Amino acid sequence: MATNWLKKLFTIKRGDAPAPVPPGLYHALQEAEGRYVRFHLRVERDHTGMLIANARAAARLTPSGVVIAKGLLDGKDEAAIVADLSARFSGASKDVMRQDIAQVHALINEVTTPNDEYPVYNLEDAALSPYSAELIAPLQASVPLAPPELLVPILDRLWAVGIPHVTLLAPEHPEPAHLIRAVERAEDLGMIAGVRGRASDLRGGTLLADLRLAGLDHVTFLYAAPDAALHDRLCGAGEHAAALDVLTWLEENQVCAVAEVPLVQANLYTLEETVATLLPLGADNLSFVAYVTTDAGLAARDGIFTAEAMTQVATIVEEATETANARFIWNPPVQRNPDAPLSAQIQAGPRCCGDVAVRVESDGAGRAHVIPPRGPHQSAGDLLHDPWEQIWDAPVFRRYRERVETPTHCDACPGLTICAADCPREPTGWAQM
Ligand code: SF4
Repeated sequence: MATNWLKKLFTIKRGDAPAPVPPGLYHALQEAEGRYVRFHLRVERDHTGMLIANARAAARLTPSGVVIAKGLLDGKDEAAIVADLSARFSGASKDVMRQDIAQVHALINEVTTPNDEYPVYNLEDAALSPYSAELIAPLQASVPLAPPELLVPILDRLWAVGIPHVTLLAPEHPEPAHLIRAVERAEDLGMIAGVRGRASDLRGGTLLADLRLAGLDHVTFLYAAPDAALHDRLCGAGEHAAALDVLTWLEENQVCAVAEVPLVQANLYTLEETVATLLPLGADNLSFVAYVTTDAGLAARDGIFTAEAMTQVATIVEEATETANARFIWNPPVQRNPDAPLSAQIQAGPRCCGDVAVRVESDGAGRAHVIPPRGPHQSAGDLLHDPWEQIWDAPVFRRYRERVETPTHCDACPGLTICAADCPREPTGWAQM
């Protein structure tokens, strides 16, 4: 009898803890004070997460924060979430858990507050570093516009692998129906949808209004300088006036504006003025892309940067944005193609948006190539047919991750944060031709 009792005592097992919130993308729509707020919760393999509200503000979450946020978005009450936390995490008192729930609640309210913030994912954000998060996939994809029969499967697959944000790259004179259909599909899926294009193609007519009705979240357009002649020389004739028209429309219609500032020698030293001009006009999300080469002759011919000049470029960007308190994305520098006019390359822009991003290109025949943000323009696999894990683990992505995981900070430029992903003067870290 006693033996049975002892046996039972020592073989009693704690109930198995519930499985952690599985990695993936969760989508929720909540009504707050008469308006709808769209949430994306992306859970990574290490069970940390990112909460994005209304495509505009993003916050990183610890593993317990993920359980709390998922519970709140699922409509669970405090007692149910405390029970979930108690079953998964030991060591914290119920009072501490209640405080944590109140904090995540406050965070949700904070990211829900209307503002014009575009989710900026830079690798200098320590929480996004590959050291601290095992990202299941990038957070954003840039996709050149294609007809719906090619683009819709790409959007569906991006959503399925957990990428919540797409930026559609509109070519010159885009087909409006294709652009509208792509934004509609992204919206139907619950994705954050942006369009990057020439201001002259976007303004006028009803395109922007139609895109807004379809669910457009942001517009990215070029803005090189307040000097119209300089802007037009770099971006195309008439583009400065068009950029101002687009900016005015976006501000009036409460659509998030992202100004992409191409960096070359001619506009570098007036960058502070450029930033100061953009902010009051409503473009307070800035995206910088520098054009570089290892060829000193080409740099002199086109007025672009050599590798050696890149630390100074990065320093000027950091100083100008810090003075103005502006949020910005640093895109991997773009290697100059000597065979294309500079303005054409500037119009084409960066490969994708920042470092936590990919580019996905349809080949027009049912395949979609996934290209990493830095290094050679080389496909890591076919988004539509290869398993995502295989693509994410492909040699080009592995090499890319090894580069960004290797600490690059050194004593040469103390205080520079842009080099968290890669040293800007290192050609292997550029978006190469
Ligand atoms: S890696 Fe070193 S040299 Fe390169 S930008 Fe950073 S601090 Fe400067």
